[in-house]
Amino acid sequence: MTELADVGGAADVAGERADVVVVGGGIAGSAAAAALAGRGVDVVVLERQYEFRDRVRGENMQPWGVVEMRRLGLEDVLLAAGGGYCERAVLYDEMRTPAEAEAAPLPLGMMVDGVPGTFSVGHPQACAALLRHAEECGARAVRGIGDVEVAPGGAPTVTYELDGNLREISARLVIAADGRQSTVRRQLGIGLHQVDSRAVLGGMLVRDDSWPDDVEVLGTEGDVHFLIFPRPNGLVRLYLARDRAAGVGGPERAARFLDAFRLTCCPGASSLVEAEVRGPCAYYPGSDSWSHRPYAEGVVLVGDAAGWSDPIIGQGLSVALRDARQVVDIMLGDHWSVDAFEPYAIERAERMRRLRVSSRLATEARCTFTPEGRARRGAIFAQLLTEPLTLGAMLAPLTGPEAAPAEAFTDDNVGRILALA
Ligand SMILES: Cc1cc2nc3c(=O)[nH]c(=O)nc-3n(C[C@H](O)[C@H](O)[C@H](O)COP(=O)(O)OP(=O)(O)OC[C@H]3O[C@@H](n4cnc5c(N)ncnc54)[C@H](O)[C@@H]3O)c2cc1C
Repeated sequence: MTELADVGGAADVAGERADVVVVGGGIAGSAAAAALAGRGVDVVVLERQYEFRDRVRGENMQPWGVVEMRRLGLEDVLLAAGGGYCERAVLYDEMRTPAEAEAAPLPLGMMVDGVPGTFSVGHPQACAALLRHAEECGARAVRGIGDVEVAPGGAPTVTYELDGNLREISARLVIAADGRQSTVRRQLGIGLHQVDSRAVLGGMLVRDDSWPDDVEVLGTEGDVHFLIFPRPNGLVRLYLARDRAAGVGGPERAARFLDAFRLTCCPGASSLVEAEVRGPCAYYPGSDSWSHRPYAEGVVLVGDAAGWSDPIIGQGLSVALRDARQVVDIMLGDHWSVDAFEPYAIERAERMRRLRVSSRLATEARCTFTPEGRARRGAIFAQLLTEPLTLGAMLAPLTGPEAAPAEAFTDDNVGRILALA
């Protein structure tokens, strides 16, 4: 950024001050903005996109995330955005027949008291609805901003570009919710620790009116792990995990993606091969990342900006809503000093550590496409009903990272599970 060409006077920003500036109006940012604005806090949200588009992000919220969604008062907003519940999951596998898999579905409504199951909603639709809701609660949103620069401190300022002009706004606090590649995190010099997985995860949205809207599907066959999440009105979000070494790019990427749903262990999925394509096909390398101190003076990071969970276990929406709720609770308690966010950082660090254990186990169990991997997967799944620590670590993505005992997440327990064969 060169010079401050124009300060104030923007159509959407009435003044040069706000209590809170939120950078990034996605899931975490808009949820936090709505909760604060609804309690009378003066909030400005700066969002890069004019219109949210499908970037192949998370659309399936876990039962423990539903609790956070409800605590933030967002269930009706996301239902109206096209969201819906799914009460059971069928776990297909090349080691059993389709009939065996279908006879023993996972009851998603039994994971968290009072929650009917997982909740699926389109990511662009959810972001748009949450940002609109934040505005209805009183937040001022500025869409389509360009470069942004945050100066932390006791009275932080945010400089941003809009329509070729630079603008500056000062605040009591900045919430950075600008996603995985967070510009604000980089500007603050907050580094992330990261572990890479050996899987890549790809996704694509299709429409298939014949696909049942009350069952989600997970499974492994050959060299793919597949996930199928229905949404209302025939929409189906498909994900595939493959080995990082497998070639997934090229012009035929989308066709090859769909072709992988010709599955012997899940014959019903063959209708998806011919389904109407409704969005881009993109793959991302799996990884977990985290920071022990996702804040600086005058700035706190939430959602992916503060570090993300490997998408293989689909935690990002739940994590983003928990972050938003935690930070909002602290602020509504009238604690805005830098030290006030330490309890959030401590809780988040342990939450993400536990989720890292679960994502590692999920990758090892579901995405090891070798004979040894198959044998281990069989042994792990056979033990789920008899060994509470195996169950706790494997089910934590659904029940929530704090629902299982701490011993489920120790190196000893992980070593024991991975040694099964
Ligand atoms: C392939 C894949 C599959 C996934 N599957 C699941 C799943 O099934 N379930 C699940 O819970 N999670 C899943 N996730 C993770 C989930 O999508 C994210 O964790 C979640 O969207 C994070 O929310 P967020 O608000 O932190 O970030 P985002 O949703 O990325 O929002 C960030 C916002 O900030 C804006 N922004 C970025 N930079 C700037 C800037 N400089 N200035 C202003 N605005 C900016 C962006 O435009 C965006 O609107 C998946 C992720 C991937 C990649």
